[in-house]
Amino acid sequence: MCGIVGFTGNKPASPILLDGLEKLEYRGYDSAGIAVLNDNKIKTAKTTERIRNLFEKTDNGKTVPGSIGIGHTRWATHGGPSTTNAHPHLSGDAKFAVVHNGIIENYVELKEELISEGVEFASETDTEVVPRLLEKYYKGDLLDAVCQVVKKLDGSFALGIICTDYPETLVAAKKFSPLIIGKGKGENYIASDVTALISHTRDVVYLEDDTVAVLTKNDINLYDYNKNEVAVKVSHINWDIAAAEKGGYDYFMMKEMCEEPRAIRQTIEPRIKDGEVVLEDISLDKEALRKINRISIVACGSAYHAGIVGKYVMEEMLRIPVDVDLASEYRYRNPITDSKTLTIIISQSGETADTLAALNEAKQRGSRVLSIVNVVGSSIAKASDDVIYTWAGPEIAVATTKGYTTQLSVLYLFAIWAAKTLGTVDDKTLSEITNSLKNVPNAIDRVLDQKDKIREMAKHSVDSQSLFFIGRNIDYAVSLEASLKLKEISYIHSEAYAAGELKHGTISLIEEGRTVIALACQTDLYDKMLSNIKEVRARGAYVVACANEGETGVAAEAEEVIYIPRVHKFLRAAVEIIPFQLYAYYVAELKGLDIDKPRNLAKSVTVE
Ligand code: GLU
Repeated sequence: MCGIVGFTGNKPASPILLDGLEKLEYRGYDSAGIAVLNDNKIKTAKTTERIRNLFEKTDNGKTVPGSIGIGHTRWATHGGPSTTNAHPHLSGDAKFAVVHNGIIENYVELKEELISEGVEFASETDTEVVPRLLEKYYKGDLLDAVCQVVKKLDGSFALGIICTDYPETLVAAKKFSPLIIGKGKGENYIASDVTALISHTRDVVYLEDDTVAVLTKNDINLYDYNKNEVAVKVSHINWDIAAAEKGGYDYFMMKEMCEEPRAIRQTIEPRIKDGEVVLEDISLDKEALRKINRISIVACGSAYHAGIVGKYVMEEMLRIPVDVDLASEYRYRNPITDSKTLTIIISQSGETADTLAALNEAKQRGSRVLSIVNVVGSSIAKASDDVIYTWAGPEIAVATTKGYTTQLSVLYLFAIWAAKTLGTVDDKTLSEITNSLKNVPNAIDRVLDQKDKIREMAKHSVDSQSLFFIGRNIDYAVSLEASLKLKEISYIHSEAYAAGELKHGTISLIEEGRTVIALACQTDLYDKMLSNIKEVRARGAYVVACANEGETGVAAEAEEVIYIPRVHKFLRAAVEIIPFQLYAYYVAELKGLDIDKPRNLAKSVTVE
């Protein structure tokens, strides 16, 4: 959510900042701005429109000259989106400019104290206390002032700071909000994530919490809040630039859907050796696994839906009870957990604020934490006992696709590995499931081949006000995700219902012409689903069904049918979701919506 970039070097800073902000657009924002230092003065440019508007306003950066600067995309938390509230914020004497991601929770106290000392605030933001405090505490030593100020801040922050007395120095600080440093040759950078950096450098330093970074064009120095130096550890990033860019597709979401087979292959293949799942990434061993009597999955959004699939699969395969919780609920309800519970945390970005807080709650109560994360070195990865990375590459579209299916893939790998380790499933069945898992990418390719048909089908829903997804068991878990996808990007209301639950209320909403999307891919429950389809059809529903290839009987009961290639029943979610990711995409496209950046949503939700 929201983003920061910063640069110090010998080149004009503005084009680099603007380009970086454009790369960070996908994180979601409502306003943006840059501040550049030149000739002892800081000049800013801000917009409440897209970053393109900042390019235009500044003549591609030419009107904001200088070779050191900071930039920001804001996702408003305190004060509405406006140019006044947009960052960077300046101190009263215009000596300091500050960009901030996160929330300063004690800003009211700090602001009142400053007001009582005669400070006049320009914006409604929590952030503005930072430059104002810097002005108050600055006595000629920038690091000293920053350390004094950050010690006073409660809450979460990633900060980028420049000061007119230090014409080459860029300062950054971090607590609970993401921020990384890019190490170049004769230039250095800060950014919220690597997408803004990889066209410049692949050498990065992951800033730890409670650390202040002082960058000049040639040096990177890190300090704790007491100005003690901390070691700098440089990591190398392997993502290629093309992977972070659109590569000829109209939208990142389409590119990322087309990448699903490859992303799943990358995630599963290195972990299947001689037909067996090998999880070398984790330290959890047979002895530790045997002590586990409960699994608790905690996540938000689509990751939560992946967790629900995980529950169905793991309970069946491991015969261990599995709970799935929304992180925002879990963290505040004094959760019951202990050393016999394995907590599985799922987050694509690894920075989801609620999920990170839930992880800490689980750890404090003695639970062992295994996380499923896409971003190496992210806060959740670092805080977990074990991490199994999804190797999906950068996911840019706000609505997750390959993030979700690679999370499912890791859950499958884990379930197969744990079933083998615990001996809860016989070897023959395990090898069938493992072979079928290797075939999931091919099955997805065949669903992607049906794009044109699905686009045609999507036309029917363009003018819908509301529709329903129904399913049982894993089909129900997939319905939840399919419904979310549609809501997120097409702005059409939809609900996912456990098909057996319809009669307990929801069926009163079924009327003539109401679209009901019925997922009927669980063979054991196929007949039950056919009955549910008949029930809604008898009340006038327009039924779109999804079934396994060969189960053609459903065609007589539905207006439209999408067939998916058969994979093992536990693995079907990863294939079955694809038509509905495409469906949501095409409905949004036909409505002319901004598919990659749906309104009000952010990619990486780093505030609670
Ligand atoms: N809380 C700050 C504001 O509302 C920063 C929000 C952000 O992270 O973009 O201005």
